[in-house]
Amino acid sequence: MKRVAVLGATGSIGASALDVIARHPQRFAVTALSANRNVDALVALCAAHTPAFAVIADAARESELRTRLAAAKLPTRALSGDAGLREAATGDADIVIAAIVGAAGLDSTLAAARAGKRLLLANKEAVVMAGPLLLQALRAGGGELIPIDSEHNAIFQCLPGGRPDLQRAGVRRIVLTASGGPFRGRTRAQLANVTPDQACAHPNWVMGRKISVDSATLMNKGLEVIEAHWLFGARADRIEVVVHPQSIVHSLVEYADGSTLAQLGNPDMRTALAHALAYPERIESAVARLDLSQVGALQFQAPDRATFACLDLAYRALAAGGTAPAILNAANEIAVAAFLAGTLPFLAIAEVIAATLDAMPAEPVDALDGLIYADLTARQHARRIMRRAHNC
Ligand code: NAD
Ligand code: MG
Repeated sequence: MKRVAVLGATGSIGASALDVIARHPQRFAVTALSANRNVDALVALCAAHTPAFAVIADAARESELRTRLAAAKLPTRALSGDAGLREAATGDADIVIAAIVGAAGLDSTLAAARAGKRLLLANKEAVVMAGPLLLQALRAGGGELIPIDSEHNAIFQCLPGGRPDLQRAGVRRIVLTASGGPFRGRTRAQLANVTPDQACAHPNWVMGRKISVDSATLMNKGLEVIEAHWLFGARADRIEVVVHPQSIVHSLVEYADGSTLAQLGNPDMRTALAHALAYPERIESAVARLDLSQVGALQFQAPDRATFACLDLAYRALAAGGTAPAILNAANEIAVAAFLAGTLPFLAIAEVIAATLDAMPAEPVDALDGLIYADLTARQHARRIMRRAHNC
């Protein structure tokens, strides 16, 4: 029996993870669940999964959580804040699912890595911000990381032994597929007035709002290029992006002998979660079988890098190295939040990120403090740029 902590349990990945876990009560038990502020949703999940711990990130709500758990006669202990998340990530769990969105997930992700857990990483922002520190923490802890992001999970499945030396394994290129999001094929003029709801109406995946906007700008793919660089040790010029509107081929690995291996499946995150939970075994995920004759055609095309400028901004940050990816990520989080709040136009998201990168030269990264400082400073720059240029 494996004990599983689900950090970000009330989100889209959290729900998919708990769905897979609940289908295998002989294999998995939930030991900890976390949410940001929604006590109702967290208590409902505790009633369904009876974990030992429940963590509410907003410390002001810990006593409400405790009262509600007691009223529901649940054995679950209430914790809160970063310390609570750290305790859930390092306690008795065998597997930690890092499914908090954004930089807020970094601390608990690093803690789980250092504690030698099997880390199921969905929180791509953590690896974008702190790739080298996360790898260091994994080495120190002696645990293992299995990617949940569907593209990286696909690459993991197409590589021999998960994370080999790419040169020795004869890998020529990693090809990340991108759906292109809801605005694929549009011109800049057609993107000027798009709304948050239009940006979040993804054609193939149902996801949280932040990653949905990232998919619409192609920043999601940009973050994934940086994620692939750190997770697989691939140079930027060996990581390519191809648009594949059907989201059936989740990514590909091209080898020196001309073979290209791909992983296919219906677009449902439960496949990656089931794979990573049971690895190296295979278990049921309840994902519908892939019927290729129903799918009909699989299409591939080059991304429109001029209209969707965020993709190249990510390559630029990766090339600059050091703190640049953390700056990119922080500016993106601020700009996307403003877009979702209705105060920043869609096309300005890339402008704010570019201006923030311009304002902050990359510094070498040797410790977490420097990264956190870069993250906070980039957020301030991005806010100032938005106030000046967009009056928000
Ligand atoms: P979501 O918005 O649906 O859920 C986010 C979760 O994080 C919630 O449980 C929320 O309570 C928690 N959270 C938010 N802010 C927090 C904070 N400040 N402190 C602590 N907890 C906080 O997001 P999601 O779509 O489930 O995505 C989660 C992560 O997985 C993201 O990093 C995303 O990029 C990645 N991811 C998601 C998908 C997907 O299909 N949804 C696919 C690949 C990768
Ligand atoms: Mg992805």
